[in-house]
Amino acid sequence: MTTVSTAALARDVASGNVSAEEVLQEHLVRIRAWEPKLGAYLRVLEPEAVAQARAIDAKRGRGEKLGRLAGVPVAVKDNMLVRGVETTAGSRILQGHVAAYDATVVRRMLDEDAVILGQTNMDEFAMGSSTENSAFQVTHNPWDADCVPGGSSGGSAAAVCAGLCSLALGSDTGGSIRQPASFCGVVGLKPTYGRISRHGLIAFASSLDQIGPLARSVEDAALALSVIAGPDPMDSTCAIMPVPDYLNELEAGVKGLRVGLPKEYFVAGLDPEVEAAVRAAVATLGSLGAEVREVSLPHTRYAVSAYYILAPSEASSNLARFDGVRYGRRSARARTLEELYELSRGEGFGPEVKRRIMLGTYALSAGYYDAYYGKAQRVRTLIKGDFSAAFQQVDVIAAPAAPTAAFRLGEKSSDPVAMYLSDVFTIPSSMAGNASLSLPCGRTKGGLPIGLQLIADSFCEGTLLRAAAAYERVNPWSALPEPTRA
Ligand code: GLN
Repeated sequence: MTTVSTAALARDVASGNVSAEEVLQEHLVRIRAWEPKLGAYLRVLEPEAVAQARAIDAKRGRGEKLGRLAGVPVAVKDNMLVRGVETTAGSRILQGHVAAYDATVVRRMLDEDAVILGQTNMDEFAMGSSTENSAFQVTHNPWDADCVPGGSSGGSAAAVCAGLCSLALGSDTGGSIRQPASFCGVVGLKPTYGRISRHGLIAFASSLDQIGPLARSVEDAALALSVIAGPDPMDSTCAIMPVPDYLNELEAGVKGLRVGLPKEYFVAGLDPEVEAAVRAAVATLGSLGAEVREVSLPHTRYAVSAYYILAPSEASSNLARFDGVRYGRRSARARTLEELYELSRGEGFGPEVKRRIMLGTYALSAGYYDAYYGKAQRVRTLIKGDFSAAFQQVDVIAAPAAPTAAFRLGEKSSDPVAMYLSDVFTIPSSMAGNASLSLPCGRTKGGLPIGLQLIADSFCEGTLLRAAAAYERVNPWSALPEPTRA
């Protein structure tokens, strides 16, 4: 049951072919075998998960109908609240912080009879692209233990990849679902801004943050999206729009679908093996009946610079709440209120988070606001305009998810700019707020997965999933890496 699709697993549990507890136990066995080498989970919630699985089996025993995720073991990135257990966003400052309520996405999965199996490792406050910024542990790539799993949802991507859960949740601010999905060879979907409630997500950059699923197939991602999307009175940024059943979109094929290749994404710095795999995938879409044409997104090259003004600015404001008074860590050395703030924050935040707070505070300060924050906002508007113009001509944009396959642990950790550049292809769609996903489209000679990114206009997740499903049907990717590789 650790290899079958989420949809099939839920059907088997709902029909009684297998119990939720058996499914859970199989995953726990696999976790015990893998976790010492992988480090994907910060916490495996074994007793809680066993209780949930038993409750689901009991419900079935009473003849009640089970939900769409019956008995599906789900891993949750550690920045989404799970009631009654520690939730830290990978940061020391939140060590010991016990969540008072469930994030809406967690609640919606539980309402469909999923089992919350544990919380996954991440870059501190989702700032990073390798999961190396976690305050607690390193996560290894299941395909090659010397490589990073990507980030910041690296734990979720690694857990899904290795079969340590059936489905995972991640969050994506500038690429944190799509980039680790591409590094681990799984499907990762960043929905349109406003498609999914963020109530209970620990905020990083509120105008960009989105929650989304990581899964081993397009169908599983579609199922997860159908469950967690939709309006939420607890999140005013969540769009009041109906949720289609995304599973119905998967069979439509790509005949006549217009696919755009943005010329600005095929530039120096793009690894030739990645480029070849992405171009081959686009040719496959063409052979399935899609019309492929070139498009231009002329402001792409300004996206990373603008993002690294906007995201840190928002972070500096969001993270001001962590002051040692209300949540998590409180310095034991403090004697005055001033010291309490200074020492709690100084001890609690890691170096990348401090760098972002300083960058953001600077960019927002009087005298610099217009030059940095204001200008970056205007660049964002131009980037949005690029996509709007492109979506007049095409239905879907195809591009690499990342410029390279997974890099080695430690390779970029001392060079923040090199790390920032691994999101060069995912940041523009985040800035525009539209929908995008990454799905596996091949491997390097060294055996590492390569991700194809597909981008669609806002609230066109159905089109995105339809194109991805058509590609996946002719290029299925099911093999799980074996534990011996790690
Ligand atoms: N790597 C990017 C950053 O560090 C994006 C992170 C994310 O999407 N959460 O900001």
